[in-house]
Amino acid sequence: MSGDAPVLRAEDVRAGYGAGDIIHGISVSVAAGTVASVVGPNGSGKSTLLKALAGVIRPSSGRVLAGDRDITGLPPEEIARAGIGYVPQVDDVFAPLTVRENLEMGGYLLSKAQYDVLRLHRTEIPGSSPLNHEMRAGVFDCAACALPLFSSEAKYDSRTGWPSFFRPLENAIGMSTDYVFLMPRTEVHCRRCGGHLGHRFEDGPRPTGLRYCINGVALTFRPDVSGTG
Ligand SMILES: [Zn+2]
Repeated sequence: MSGDAPVLRAEDVRAGYGAGDIIHGISVSVAAGTVASVVGPNGSGKSTLLKALAGVIRPSSGRVLAGDRDITGLPPEEIARAGIGYVPQVDDVFAPLTVRENLEMGGYLLSKAQYDVLRLHRTEIPGSSPLNHEMRAGVFDCAACALPLFSSEAKYDSRTGWPSFFRPLENAIGMSTDYVFLMPRTEVHCRRCGGHLGHRFEDGPRPTGLRYCINGVALTFRPDVSGTG
């Protein structure tokens, strides 16, 4: 690629929702280090174009390229990893987060499995998370916003099939009460982004007697590379 190659390019992209295309053969090119704006009246297809570039909707024809990589039709979380995300104007913007954190959240960086747990409060299949067996020293971060949530020092084997901790890091989590099984349960979520993590039960080991039963898919593990711990 030459130094002037565009970082993002759309070639003759057509896209829309369901039956009809809303944009018909759009070609744009964005050079590195520039700010590009799409200007037009309501209903002219600006959002449709941006969603097609970010993979939120799939172009019906044409190509989208990130650098020299063809990203047409890839799922949005994969396109987000190539650095292209779509953030809606109002929905899913979190006031306590910085603009960058909102971009990372809104950029569909979550996989379907992560979204199901963090946003839809679903529960992963017990035993499915590789973090069940993660015994190295390190920190478990929120998979959505990267806030550090649990230390490996508080992890223990609860034999439930879900990663379990007897204590969260300070100022890391928030709690609410839910009644999913008609019994009040203490729901545990990320203090910063509100992402659902799991539940807290009172049958944990010493010293707290608490069990934070966490969906592994809601966490990312950062091993301690200092060699201590
Ligand atoms: Zn979070």
